[in-house]
Amino acid sequence: MPPQKLSGKPEELAAFIDKFDIFLFDCDGVLWQGASLLPRTAETIAHLRSLGKQLLFVTNNSTKSRTTYQAKLQGLGIPCGINEIFCSAYSSAIYISRVLRLQRDKRVYVIGESGIKEELATEGVAYISDDGGDITPEDYDSFGPDEDVGVVLCGLDHAISYRKLARAYQYLRNPGTVFLATNIDSTFPTHGKLFPGAGAMSAPLTYMTGRTPVSLGKPSQAMMDAIEGVLEFDRKRACMVGDRLDTDIRFGIEGGLGGTLAVLTGVSTEEEILEEGATVVPDAYLDRLCDILG
Ligand code: PLP
Ligand code: CA
Repeated sequence: MPPQKLSGKPEELAAFIDKFDIFLFDCDGVLWQGASLLPRTAETIAHLRSLGKQLLFVTNNSTKSRTTYQAKLQGLGIPCGINEIFCSAYSSAIYISRVLRLQRDKRVYVIGESGIKEELATEGVAYISDDGGDITPEDYDSFGPDEDVGVVLCGLDHAISYRKLARAYQYLRNPGTVFLATNIDSTFPTHGKLFPGAGAMSAPLTYMTGRTPVSLGKPSQAMMDAIEGVLEFDRKRACMVGDRLDTDIRFGIEGGLGGTLAVLTGVSTEEEILEEGATVVPDAYLDRLCDILG
């Protein structure tokens, strides 16, 4: 069935919203674009709260921690609790501590930024990382497998380097070392263009080792499992709202959520949503999130 474009008719909007108790919101491209809040987003969120809806902000961006996200949302006029934020750095930390149950004496080798390190520290997971810089003759001698490294976790790292990858490669040569990625987005939008995403950090390691990481970001169901690990909700009464068909909408569909809603303020276009033969099709779509207000 083709997706329904929700008109501004109050009864049609109410009928859609009434089907759900919880809304999972993608962030970039739905609530904001980079640093700019999209029109009337704060009002829309407040409206859903006034209807008693539970909200969860689910983002693939691993560079920020939940605390940083909470401050960003609050700074943009969207008050929220820390438990309403689920970023891929957090889902990675939860997965390592509560699903893998990484032994206390093992460490995580991180390619990534402060968001990942903060979330690992909060979950009590020990980690190491590399400061980057050029690889030296001593490094060639000293780099090698390390039994103490139980996980290699790869997220977006603006200072990715040969040295960081070379160390990760050595750890991953041990088949017992688990290979994780915070998310595998090929690109992400910034400054009106697409730039290399977190998936472009782990892809060279896949090429080197032949190993595929478990992703803790949308559309991976490992992220849904991590969400369910900390929050009880009825999937049939949940709606995923997103701007990207291959991550957000697929995440909702494969997770068996009751509904999916696409918005046209981000990556995917109306042509893609309506394309004949498309494999990932949302239940409904809107030009902008605030059209929920009618
Ligand atoms: N990864 C990075 C590094 C980003 O900056 C962004 C968006 O800002 C994303 C992924 C995608 O985030 P979201 O899932 O909120 O669209
Ligand atoms: Ca998005």
